[in-house]
Amino acid sequence: MAIRPWLRQYLRQLPGYRQEHPLAHRLTMYVLACSLGFALLSTVLQVGIEYQREMRQIDQRLELIRSGYVASLARSLWDVDDEQLRLQMQGILFIPDVGGLRLQGAEATQIGDVRLPGRAPPVSTREHAFVLSHAAPDGVRELGRLVVQIDLDAVAARLGWSGLTIFLSQSLTILMIAGVLVVIFQWLVTRHLESMARHARQLGEGQFDAPLALARTPTTTPDELDAVVAAVNDMQLAIRQEMARRQRVQEQLVASRDQLRDRVEKRTRSLRAAKEAAEAANQAKSQFLATMSHEIRTPMNGMLGMIQLLRQRRLPAAIGAQLELLHQSGEALLATLNQVLDYARLEEGAYLPESVGFSLRQLVDGQRQLVDVAARQKGLALVAEVDAALPDAWCGSVGGLRQVIANLLANAIKFTAAGQVTLRVRPAPGEEGGRLRFEVEDQGIGIEAAQLERIFERFTQADESITRRFGGTGLGLAICRKLVESMGGTLEVSSTPGVGSRFWFELPLQCAPDVIEVAADGATADASAAPAWPSLSLLLVEDVAINREVLVGLLENVGHLVFSAENGQQALALCRQQGFDAILMDMHLPGMSGAEVARRIRGDTDNLNAGTPIVALTASVAPEDIRHYLDSGMDAVVAKPIRLETLRQTLASVTRSAGASLAAAAEVPAGDIDRRLLATHASVFGPARLLALLAQLESQTDPALVQLAEALQREDLYEAEAIAHKLAGSCELLGLNTCGRCLRTLEGRAAADEPAACRALLADLSARFAADLARARDLAAATPPG
Ligand code: ADP
Repeated sequence: MAIRPWLRQYLRQLPGYRQEHPLAHRLTMYVLACSLGFALLSTVLQVGIEYQREMRQIDQRLELIRSGYVASLARSLWDVDDEQLRLQMQGILFIPDVGGLRLQGAEATQIGDVRLPGRAPPVSTREHAFVLSHAAPDGVRELGRLVVQIDLDAVAARLGWSGLTIFLSQSLTILMIAGVLVVIFQWLVTRHLESMARHARQLGEGQFDAPLALARTPTTTPDELDAVVAAVNDMQLAIRQEMARRQRVQEQLVASRDQLRDRVEKRTRSLRAAKEAAEAANQAKSQFLATMSHEIRTPMNGMLGMIQLLRQRRLPAAIGAQLELLHQSGEALLATLNQVLDYARLEEGAYLPESVGFSLRQLVDGQRQLVDVAARQKGLALVAEVDAALPDAWCGSVGGLRQVIANLLANAIKFTAAGQVTLRVRPAPGEEGGRLRFEVEDQGIGIEAAQLERIFERFTQADESITRRFGGTGLGLAICRKLVESMGGTLEVSSTPGVGSRFWFELPLQCAPDVIEVAADGATADASAAPAWPSLSLLLVEDVAINREVLVGLLENVGHLVFSAENGQQALALCRQQGFDAILMDMHLPGMSGAEVARRIRGDTDNLNAGTPIVALTASVAPEDIRHYLDSGMDAVVAKPIRLETLRQTLASVTRSAGASLAAAAEVPAGDIDRRLLATHASVFGPARLLALLAQLESQTDPALVQLAEALQREDLYEAEAIAHKLAGSCELLGLNTCGRCLRTLEGRAAADEPAACRALLADLSARFAADLARARDLAAATPPG
């Protein structure tokens, strides 16, 4: 039988049973307790019944004594037959439970006391007295009493024994039933519950493959356990299906993530490549612009210098006037060149309109004069009108204004065959003042309505026939519109084909009654009116012969002693031979650049000119170029074409503070702000433009710092590195040394993939930037205009 080994095992493992089968153990305990309780109760009941029976038997025995012995005893007593009396009492003693007899006389005298020999007197007894009487003729006479002592000890012993046997037999029976019940329960329920628990544990460990199967013979009608097994297996199946579904979803997610990552990486690579290509193109454009600027400025420098030299001579009035026109045209050309460069910078976001004081009527007259010859050649009437109510002194971006008007006038004359071209300036309609409206009207070919918007696009002309007839690049109006917008206005047009066109724009300009006129060329001031120059011994290093000739002529004219060198080698040789008060160094020299020559002069302590001020003469005056020149050891920068007055002021300032400036140069760049760089920027660009550059840096920095913080939050360190790089360059160019250094460190940390370090650096950057910028602004504002 299967039960036997289980039982054996059960008995063997009894001590550990409680831990292993707590439910069965508890059940066993309950059954045992109940069984014992029931056994006890049943025993008490049965002993009670037994007791009743015993008492009844005692009563029957007493009745037997009364009926069987009392009369004969009374007779024997009457007859005083002691022998008979003894025999009769002996007979009573053999009746069960009679422990002893006592015979008392009529006067309660003790006649006899009889007990069974060898038996100890019982401890607890019940006595019953029988009256022994004799019916004499004179009536019934009481002879004595027979007291029967019932032995209760024997009754109690019998009851005790019977109670014990009943209790034991009952307990044994119930125990056996309980044991069998527990075994059946264990067999039918508990072991299955245990295997279910084992199965559940396996499910918890992730083993979902084997279904739950109980070791039991299948029944025809499913019971509760079968229902539980079916429910567990259904649940297991549902879990497996759900897990499979999740697995599929997970795999799809992983696949999608990998795909997405691949795509992002590909996109990042292509964007990076595009960005690098764009940067390279931008670099090439900047390089092209720098080269073109230099190439154009160099011959212009010669031309304008020669004109300056000629203007210092006494010439016939007519030639003088022509020379003046030549000079103005040269300056206008130079201004246009500057504006084109500014436009390129505008596209890069680096254009800054420079606000200066100017005379409105001189401006209009100058513009009219510029195109007067062309208008007269075509037989056109050229009219310039300035509203009489308008004041003459204004403050604004006169360079941009001049370029726009010149362009509109040139177009008007170009596209008008006969009739009149009018330049009109009046207050903007509905404005009290401060906003001027400039208008150029012609009676030319006009523009088709469909073309009106397109003509402002770059390299766009109304149609191809116009290109064939009139030529042109289609760039002029695009530049004009950008310039007008950069000055705060909008360039507009209305036109009727065959009737004429009207271009106009309105600008917010400040009325400045005290502003001194800055002439169109800015260089027409009479050299003789300038303060006297102290005579200096100068070394001019310049490779272009005409430039050399012009500068030597100009400088000798004002009393300086000028030595010249054509290249770096010659300059270095001269510098070793004699000391100079100052060195004027062209930056684009053949072989060795001006910056390199300066570095060598400064690096050679035995050189007689190691401490001589060096002034850079250059057409490349972007802020980054200026920083490069100063880093090479130069003291000042003068932009080409060179204006005598600017050169005079620069020479005065560098020779005056030669010792001090060099000492300062050695220590200043280590501070928060590079004062020398700022001062040079102020002298090259003018304080107004330097302030505008600082404002532009501020407007560029605030959003850039926000972008930087956002990039760091996203942990996009590539973006953070790019932003920090760009911003560091801008800070360094304008002398914000500490901010620049901090940004460079941040750039390095971003490249090294350390976001926490980047965030720590960024934390105090904006406060520092604001403080340094405010100081730089104060320094720029304190610089006297050059
Ligand atoms: P372009 O160098 O070709 O003159 P612009 O940008 O100055 O370039 O002008 C673009 C086009 O706008 C011209 O080609 C011409 O078709 C048209 N345009 C400009 N000004 C006038 C005008 N005053 N009258 C008629 N057409 C004009």
